[in-house]
Amino acid sequence: MNLVLLGAPGSGKGTQAQRLHEQHHLVHLSTGDMLRRSIDRGEPLGLKAKSFIDAGELVPDDVMIDMIAERIKQPDCSNGFILDGFPRTLKQAEALDKMLPSLGKDLDHVIQIKVEEKTLVERIAGRFSCAKCRESYHELYKKTKKEGVCDICGSTEFVRRSDDMPETIKNRFRLYREQTMPLLDYYQGKSILTQIDGHQPIEVVASTIDQLLFGNDQVKPSKTSSL
Ligand code: AMP
Repeated sequence: MNLVLLGAPGSGKGTQAQRLHEQHHLVHLSTGDMLRRSIDRGEPLGLKAKSFIDAGELVPDDVMIDMIAERIKQPDCSNGFILDGFPRTLKQAEALDKMLPSLGKDLDHVIQIKVEEKTLVERIAGRFSCAKCRESYHELYKKTKKEGVCDICGSTEFVRRSDDMPETIKNRFRLYREQTMPLLDYYQGKSILTQIDGHQPIEVVASTIDQLLFGNDQVKPSKTSSL
């Protein structure tokens, strides 16, 4: 099972992808996380990407396409993967369509998690993560079990993403509308797109996704006019 999760920043793609990884053992390929790790390690790729990320701009297509092509070839991806944050442009989607058959793979589903911009801003404002292991948290929706201590590694240091600042977020939303939303028509045309209302609680979004991927129930299309 290979899938793409589409959604604006803060829509909950990462949360759902992580859950699918834990419960269904699909490899979670978050291009944002891959780039941030590369920055932390001081690698040439990270150095190249950092200024784009900090400005809320997109990293150039050829860099992203090469990065994902390398990763998808790895043996652990043969049992299925979730792309989170890729593709983000039509050029990336077309490159993925060329790349997958050459590796004997294809895309089974594209799921868009739709959320209104006002809610997205609120969600992003509360995000933070562990400075050590990078586990993500939210001031309202996913607090640490013990205040100020990471549930996973026990660290007491936390950071906020440099690109979660209000001005940068605006730019990221604009790019999502301009560059990524055209992918909805692209995947609709291939009849593999499902839209899910991301305002629902995390567990409801999760079970809707599970029904689509692993069950027989029909998924109700989202009625909101969200991003
Ligand atoms: P994310 O964690 O998915 O929100 O990604 C954080 C940042 O990484 C984005 O704002 C971009 O600067 C960069 N990025 C991640 N994935 C891509 C992609 N597929 N194409 C271009 N830039 C990307």
